[in-house]
Amino acid sequence: SCGICVNKCPFDAIEIINLPQELTDEPVHRYGENAFALYGLPAPQEGQVTGILGPNGIGKTTAVRILADEMAPNLGQYGQEPSWEEILDEYRGTALQDYLEDMRDGDVDVARKPQYVDRIPDQFDGKARELLEQTDERGELDYLIDRTGIRPVVDNHIDDLSGGELQRVALVATLARDADFYFLDEITPYLDIGQRMTAARLIRELAEEGDRSMLVVEHDLAILDLLADNINVAYGSPGAFGIITSPKSTKNGINEYLSGYLENENMRIRQTEIEFEEHAPRTASTGDVVIEYPDLQKSYGEDEFSLDVEAGTIRESEVLGVVGPNGIGKSTFAKMLAGRLEPSEGSVDTGLDIAYKPQYIDIDQPMRVDAFLASITDDFGTSYWNTEIAQPLQLDAVMEQQLTDLSGGERQRVAIAACLSKDADLYLLDEPSAHLDVEQRVLATSAIRRYAENHDATAMVIDHDIYMIDLLADRLLVFDGEPAKSGHAAPPQGMREGMNEFLSNLDITFRRDERTSRPRINKPGSQLDRKQKNAGEYYYSP
Ligand code: ADP
Ligand code: ADP
Repeated sequence: SCGICVNKCPFDAIEIINLPQELTDEPVHRYGENAFALYGLPAPQEGQVTGILGPNGIGKTTAVRILADEMAPNLGQYGQEPSWEEILDEYRGTALQDYLEDMRDGDVDVARKPQYVDRIPDQFDGKARELLEQTDERGELDYLIDRTGIRPVVDNHIDDLSGGELQRVALVATLARDADFYFLDEITPYLDIGQRMTAARLIRELAEEGDRSMLVVEHDLAILDLLADNINVAYGSPGAFGIITSPKSTKNGINEYLSGYLENENMRIRQTEIEFEEHAPRTASTGDVVIEYPDLQKSYGEDEFSLDVEAGTIRESEVLGVVGPNGIGKSTFAKMLAGRLEPSEGSVDTGLDIAYKPQYIDIDQPMRVDAFLASITDDFGTSYWNTEIAQPLQLDAVMEQQLTDLSGGERQRVAIAACLSKDADLYLLDEPSAHLDVEQRVLATSAIRRYAENHDATAMVIDHDIYMIDLLADRLLVFDGEPAKSGHAAPPQGMREGMNEFLSNLDITFRRDERTSRPRINKPGSQLDRKQKNAGEYYYSP
C-alpha cells in the first residue's frame, strides 16, 4: 500500500515507488469514479515554447482541452462543475494564474494542430489551398507555404497528399491562425530532419516575434531540445493517472526523463535509465553476406524522379540504418530489394524472403489484434514470441481491441510486431518511430536489434529520429540528391563515416550532453559547430 489507498492501489502503479505529493491532493480533473485522473497542468507562457514530454495516455490531451477551454476541469469532483472562482483559487500565485484569468474573461484564442494528420482527409474534402485559405488570419500564409516547401502541392486534393505533406499542411494551417495559444501535438511524424528543423524554427519565430504561447508535445528528443524553452514532464500510469510537473529547463527536463528520476519531485518514474553510450561507433558486423546488389538505376517516366544506387552488401545479424531526406528514393530502393519493383538498369534477384513495414500503415480490417497477429505466425502466444515481440512492444493491453480502434502509436506497434513475426531473411521497417513515445521507441529499437541478432536476419530501418538511429544501427545507408528529382545511394558504411556524410549534407553538427551522452544539435555557427565542421566530425567526437 502506498499510504493513501487503504486496501489496494486502484492504479496498479507498481512503477511509482514513492507516492508523489500531488496524489494526496485533489486532481485537476477526473473523468469518472474510478476513471483517469489528471494532476497538474502545464503553464503556457507568452513568447515561449513550452514542451510536454511523457508517454502516451498520460493526460496531455486532457490538459490541453482544459487550457483550450473545451472542457471545464472538475477539480476531482466528478459530476460537479466548479465555478471559475473555485478554479482560480486553486491556482492563485502559480504560473497559471494569469492564463486562467484571461481564459475566464474569454480572452484566449486557441489554435491546435491535431496529432493524427492521417485523419484530416476524413474531415475535410477539397484542395489543400482551400483548407489553408480558411486559416490565413495573419496574412502570413504565403510565407509559411514557401518556408515549409508545400507550394508544389497546394493545388492537390487533400486525399492525394502524402503523410509528410499533410503534416506540413496541418502545421501551416495552425501557425497561419491569429491565436494567443497554439497547441501542437507531435510535429515530426513523416517529416525528414530538414523539415523537422524548419517546423521547429517556425514555431520558435511565432513565439518570439508574436509574443504568443506555444505548447508542444514531441517525442523526437533532438527536435524537442531545439524547440522548447522549458519542459513539463508528464508521468504516472497511462490510462489510470497522470501528473504534469512544473516547468524544468529543457536540458534538465530531458535528462531527468531519460534518467528515470525527477530531481525536484524526488520521484523515480522508471526503473531503468535510457542510456546513450557514447559508443565508439559500432564496429560493422562481420557476419555472412545476406545480399549483394550491383549498381542499380530506377527512373519513373521521362522527366520524373530517377535514382542511382551504388553497389553494396548487407550482412547477417546487422541493423542497417537508412537516412536521407524525403522524396529521395529510399522507399524505391526498398521496393527493388523486396522484388516489388523492377529496376530500370541492373537487377536484384535476392531470392530472399523480405518482411516489409510501410511508412503509412494500412491495417484496417475489422479484426481483433490477437486474431490478426495469430494469422501471421504460428508462434503467436508462445512464450518465445511473448518475450521477443509482445512484451517489448507492449502489446498485452491492445490484444483484445479491434485494429480499427487503435491509436497511432498502438497501430505502429502492431505493425512492427506483424513485420517481425514473419519468417524472413530481411526485415525492412519504414519509420517505425512515428507516433511512438520515447520509451516505446527505445523498446522497439531493442526488439528489432535482438530479433535480427537471434535470427541471423538483417533489419533495414528507415527513420528520421537521430536518437533512434543512434541506438539502432550498426551501419548506415545514406541517400542524398534533390527530392522529387534525383536521388543517390552510397554503399552501406560505418556509423562514423555515414553520420558525417549524412549530417554534412544537412550542415548540422551534434555535441554530446556531458551528463547523459545524448546527442544535441549544435547552434549553427557556434564555436563547437565551426570546430567540428573543420574537423569533419559531425556526430561522434573525434
Ligand atoms: P495523452 O494525450 O497523454 O495520450 P489523454 O489526455 O488523451 O492522454 O488521455 C488520458 C486518459 O484519459 C486515457 O486513459 C483516456 O482513455 C482517458 N480519457 C480521455 N478522455 C476521456 C473521457 N472523455 N472519458 C473518460 N476517459 C477519458
Ligand atoms: P522516399 O522514400 O525517400 O521518401 P520515394 O522512393 O518514395 O522516396 O520517392 C522518390 C520520388 O519518386 C518521389 O518524388 C516520388 O513522388 C516519386 N515516385 C515514387 N513512386 C513513384 C511512381 N510509382 N511513379 C512516379 N513517381 C514516383
